[in-house]
Amino acid sequence: MQPRHTAQVLIAGGGLVGSLLAVMLRRRGLQVTVLERRPDMRKVPIPAGRSINLALSDRGIRALKAAGVFEQVAPLLLPMYRRTMHDRQGRLSYQPYGRPDQCINSVGRGTLNKILLNQAEKAGAQIYFNCRVTGLDPAQKVIFTETGETFHYEKLLACDGAFSAIRLYLITTDRFNYSQSYLEHGYCEIHMPPNPDGSWRLAHDTLHIWPRKSFMLIALPNPDGSFTCTLFLPFEGDISFQKISTLQEAEQFVKTWFPDIIPHISDYAQQFATNIRSSLMTVRCSPWNLGEDILLLGDAAHAIVPFYGQGMNAGFEDVRLLCEWADKQGGFFTKGLFPRFAQFRQPDGHAIADLALKNFVEMRDLTADPAFLLRKQIEAWFSEKYPHLWIPQYTLVTFSHVPYRVALEAGRIQDEIMERVLRETADIATGSWDHARAEALMLEGSKRLPAADLVV
Ligand SMILES: Cc1cc2nc3c(=O)[nH]c(=O)nc-3n(C[C@H](O)[C@H](O)[C@H](O)COP(=O)(O)OP(=O)(O)OC[C@H]3O[C@@H](n4cnc5c(N)ncnc54)[C@H](O)[C@@H]3O)c2cc1C
Repeated sequence: MQPRHTAQVLIAGGGLVGSLLAVMLRRRGLQVTVLERRPDMRKVPIPAGRSINLALSDRGIRALKAAGVFEQVAPLLLPMYRRTMHDRQGRLSYQPYGRPDQCINSVGRGTLNKILLNQAEKAGAQIYFNCRVTGLDPAQKVIFTETGETFHYEKLLACDGAFSAIRLYLITTDRFNYSQSYLEHGYCEIHMPPNPDGSWRLAHDTLHIWPRKSFMLIALPNPDGSFTCTLFLPFEGDISFQKISTLQEAEQFVKTWFPDIIPHISDYAQQFATNIRSSLMTVRCSPWNLGEDILLLGDAAHAIVPFYGQGMNAGFEDVRLLCEWADKQGGFFTKGLFPRFAQFRQPDGHAIADLALKNFVEMRDLTADPAFLLRKQIEAWFSEKYPHLWIPQYTLVTFSHVPYRVALEAGRIQDEIMERVLRETADIATGSWDHARAEALMLEGSKRLPAADLVV
């Protein structure tokens, strides 16, 4: 007979979101147990799977600060202030992410997760590794695991990622809405080593993009002087992973589309032909709770495609908001907390899913489009002149804490306004515009935008 454990709060999944939540809940004096399917990543290297590095931005940073762990993370961040676009001739163009002081930050997934696990344990959370959740009995409040051990809980937080076992159970319950859709594109990571002297081969204060309309390559810097490049490409079709499975095909593909990386990656053909190719999906579901005691957070609630760099940031924001709600409403065990929180937050999960899909088009296609670049220029000019009237959607998502649904709606209105501004005032061929007319249109249009004082 396997032991039966009891936990006041049980967290399924010790990934990024689960381990941050464990820290935050321990700081509130709750007894926290984490069940993690994998071995302890601090002792055993984790095989390649999800991305090696991630972009951490303001929403995630705010949550890490709220948990008191940002000091440990800050020295490991590599700030990226702009996008650097590489065309097929290797010519570069630039696009700032926001004001000169605003940046997103490259951070290693494993490094960040290890810090959070350390902090969770230090704060007193009990973590069971190699402990895969296989099912639950919500009536008895019991979790079953692969090892045969069972865990009784008072509250269960599902932070077990895009393929959540807890969510799998919820799908079988009445009136649970669920959709999962795969992108026709997958991704494949390519390692660009440092120069022999340990320095970076490309500028490291920027996110590099090679936009090629229906596909793209991006690169984020790592602290050891390397870059992790990620190729996003359809699985099938004329230009696809299917068509680059031999060394010759891969060599030709890179020579055609990304010739400027060749001097930097000696085994590029090998890597492009054989590195693991993974799929990308969007999960939407509701409600995120089952009654009073079970709540989905992070990718378990809202797995999204990675093009806005917000999946982890959104999951961290879930954690911060939940804890703030609990603090304001009388604690974690206050009746109605999970249902109310789930209802409040879920539209933002759907909004960031939409935003992420939209940003894929922007990154792979529009960053090389003169009309889009002119639009960005006009927006930046107007927003500098009237910072309280026009906050670009990217800024709302990345450098603010407004609900994602507000950023989505603001972007929709801005798109309408800018289509008119480009149509009626701009000359794309020369990159010029009628400043007075554009200003008048944008001043009028911006009355429909959400108030700037929402941005905190
Ligand atoms: C290519 C790519 C690039 C990305 N880039 C960014 C980015 O730049 N910025 C950003 O913010 N986000 C990014 N993301 C998204 C980000 O990776 C996720 O949103 C984030 O990892 C979600 O954290 P999580 O803890 O919810 O899930 P996960 O990180 O997946 O953690 C889930 C944990 O649960 C464990 N687990 C799973 N099933 C079970 C089970 N049955 N029992 C017990 N444990 C279980 C897993 O082992 C894992 O440790 C990217 C994603 C991809 C795929």
